[in-house]
Amino acid sequence: MNQNEFDIKKLVRSNIVKLKPYTSARDEFKDFERKMVFLDANENPYNNGLNRYPDPQQIKLKTKICEIQNVAIDNILLGNGSDEVLDLIIRAFCEPKMDNIISMPPTYGMYKVLSDINNIKNKEVVLTNDFQINTVNVLSTIDKNTKLIFICSPNNPTGNVFDSSTIKQLLENFKGLVVLDEAYIDFAEAKSWLDDIKNYPNLIVMQTLSKAFGLAGIRLGICYANAEIIQVLNKVKPPYNVNQLTQEKALEILNNLDLIKSQVREIKKNKIKLTEALKNIDFIEKIYPSEANFILVKVDDADKRYQQLIKKEIVVRNRGNQILCKNTLRFTIGTNEENKRLIKELKSI
Ligand SMILES: *Cc1c(COP(=O)(O)O)cnc(C)c1O
Repeated sequence: MNQNEFDIKKLVRSNIVKLKPYTSARDEFKDFERKMVFLDANENPYNNGLNRYPDPQQIKLKTKICEIQNVAIDNILLGNGSDEVLDLIIRAFCEPKMDNIISMPPTYGMYKVLSDINNIKNKEVVLTNDFQINTVNVLSTIDKNTKLIFICSPNNPTGNVFDSSTIKQLLENFKGLVVLDEAYIDFAEAKSWLDDIKNYPNLIVMQTLSKAFGLAGIRLGICYANAEIIQVLNKVKPPYNVNQLTQEKALEILNNLDLIKSQVREIKKNKIKLTEALKNIDFIEKIYPSEANFILVKVDDADKRYQQLIKKEIVVRNRGNQILCKNTLRFTIGTNEENKRLIKELKSI
């Protein structure tokens, strides 16, 4: 879809178009860096570093992200993890019991859960046997109430990146929004679609600090899209959805990117080592190539091997009940020691 065809009002739920968002005390007087007497938000006045509400627009943190990613501040929305942002997107654009989304299993389970919570039909278009998008089926599944297509690339749990030509085809032919979840993009050789938000007004790119950046505990998801989409999501988000500690910790880590880059390099190296070692385990029948920080393998009996690993005090993810993933286990790349331990226990069982 090009800029001329894009009409945000046709996509947003009508109650959200009409919505007058809550304005917090910190929205009305934004200049809270200034030395003022703040008697506007019913906070406890005694300073402990956290007695004030956080910046609802997270300007300092967004400014840092803009600098790193080379995007404008009005192209960013931050959430309490990607999961919150995915929920916001569904709530802003999908009318319960009427609209639908498309997701492509085997993939991240939250798209289905969030559509179920919001009473939105989730139309599933299974990936091809080599885990690529079945474009013909996706295009024929789209109807007039299809608002969102969720694409996870690199895909969880399969680990592969989707062909850029198929993603392009969907962006160009679908009149709704394409949500591209790039939770694992920092581990991939393929490049992010972030720069393409300029070219496709219907593209939303989701990233997170939970994987490569080592901050799953602080809950920070980043959503990039054109300013009109971001404005809509801003209306719907809770005013203080990203807490003060999260904003501070995220800034600290983003100011020390060299450490993250070296950890990502290390994880990628360890992934290659682990892949090599897994080839020597006789009950592992297939190792799927991965552009993420995990490896999906096919085993003889996933339930049995999962339980055996639990007895050895190693927890992996059993993906055997997902479509196309019969008898598969997913191993996160751990530290060198953890990976060695995994191999040792796999050999012993
Ligand atoms: C882990 C993961 C996320 C991260 O969600 P957060 O809420 O940001 O922790 C998002 N999408 C996929 C596909 C994931 O695997």
